[in-house]
Amino acid sequence: MATTAQPSIAAHPKFEPVIGLEVHVQLLTASKIFCSCSTRFGALPNTNVCPVCLGMPGALPVLNKKAVEFATLAAMALNCRINENSIFARKNYFYPDLPKGYQISQYDKPLAEHGYIEIPAASGKKKIGITRVHLEEDAGKSLHEGFPDSDEKTAIDLNRTGVPLIEIVSEPDIASPDEAYEYLTRLKEIILYTGVSDCNMEEGSLRADANVSVRSRGQKELGTKTEIKNVNSFRFIREALEYEIARQIDVIESGGKITQETRLYNANEGKTYGMRSKEQAHDYRYFPEPDLLPLVVDEKWKAEIARALPELPEARRARLIKDYGITEYDAQVLTVSKSLADQFEEAAKAAKNPKRVANLVQGELMGRLKAKGIAIEQSPISMRGVAASADLVESGTISGKMLKDLYDLSFERSKDFAVIYEEEGRPQQSTDTSALLQIIDEILAANPKQLEQYRAGKKTMLGFFVGQVMKASRGQASPQLVNELLTKKLG
Ligand code: ADP
Ligand code: ZN
Ligand code: MG
Repeated sequence: MATTAQPSIAAHPKFEPVIGLEVHVQLLTASKIFCSCSTRFGALPNTNVCPVCLGMPGALPVLNKKAVEFATLAAMALNCRINENSIFARKNYFYPDLPKGYQISQYDKPLAEHGYIEIPAASGKKKIGITRVHLEEDAGKSLHEGFPDSDEKTAIDLNRTGVPLIEIVSEPDIASPDEAYEYLTRLKEIILYTGVSDCNMEEGSLRADANVSVRSRGQKELGTKTEIKNVNSFRFIREALEYEIARQIDVIESGGKITQETRLYNANEGKTYGMRSKEQAHDYRYFPEPDLLPLVVDEKWKAEIARALPELPEARRARLIKDYGITEYDAQVLTVSKSLADQFEEAAKAAKNPKRVANLVQGELMGRLKAKGIAIEQSPISMRGVAASADLVESGTISGKMLKDLYDLSFERSKDFAVIYEEEGRPQQSTDTSALLQIIDEILAANPKQLEQYRAGKKTMLGFFVGQVMKASRGQASPQLVNELLTKKLG
């Protein structure tokens, strides 16, 4: 939802927070970035490996073209400038899940720079700068838990080494935990629309690290930052930032100093803990990767990649509002994923009245989904089903009441609208005048008191009679027709 970001911790009178986010996104290529091993998640440990991704001496990396295309596409969607030449670099460090002793990344010449995304803010829209988007390989995974004999063991799974990642680094433009939350939400939405990643946080396809410092209000220079790592939901990142900002202010106000360090967030306690002092860039001894040529993305290739750029969420919402006369809220709901937005548009275009399709989504579908705790993408009634039902109401074949009943059946039986409509024998609202006239006579005869009131001038009684007739017809009558016939009869 486009909620307006508002600081949920009361703005501190003396200090303001500064936040910059580093987001790693795993690219959906079939094979790894420098070898042909599969990237499939959930394979048996250490089965998707080869000499290259195991870091065997002498094995040579070969760059995956698809990874470059996906990274470039994402960078374009984030409004970045693509560097025609970029350089792979070795980032040297020791870790048990990094067999080579270095990670191939990009350093001073990244693939893309100078981007931004827009987030909703108290003052309308706010641009958050994106410093860079670069390509790199993932490391393996250390597994510390689940050993039957001892918890002190660690196992290493190298299936993930060499899986392609992009790192998206923001400028320190983010001014509150809520803005950080908005930034991450928008960023994920944009990446999902490009289709280059599934952004699945549980599987580690999207990982965000938050850098945060505080400074006196009005001060230009940035304060010393800490980095909060390995937080596995956007909500927890917001909480972690709130805690960390308050902690830093406390330290400074009581005369202490912030140490630059990496901290971990414990979601159960709602607190961050110091983990290790943060390495400086020079600790990594970056140098150009000698086994790879400079990466060249020339104008021609860039243009080819740009053709895969979809209409992005913000632009799409604006257009849906304009083209289909739907509300901002409808547009938010209908664009939660590109596939849903595509389905809606396809259905709305085919329907007699697109606005009715949107209304039914909001008026009849969303409430039922919410009551059952189902996401709209898992709805038993597809967008096509909503469009079909909208047409039936539009043509007067079924009444609104009948539509509601049919929707209820769809949810009960987990079947799409068209299936239910067939199963129910293609019901139609009754336009059989003589049958209705008979019902009307019965109702009037059965309610002499109300009839008297009506005749005495209480015209609102008409509604009562319409209701009674509708009920007697078990919702099958056309309310419009009932109204007409009753008015004639009573008049
Ligand atoms: P490092 O060398 O520690 O990785 P970078 O300069 O590469 O630091 O920045 C990493 C991230 O931290 C970026 O998103 C950047 O915007 C943010 N950042 C840098 N300095 C600060 C600071 N003083 N306070 C908050 N965030 C910062
Ligand atoms: Zn491999
Ligand atoms: Mg950095």
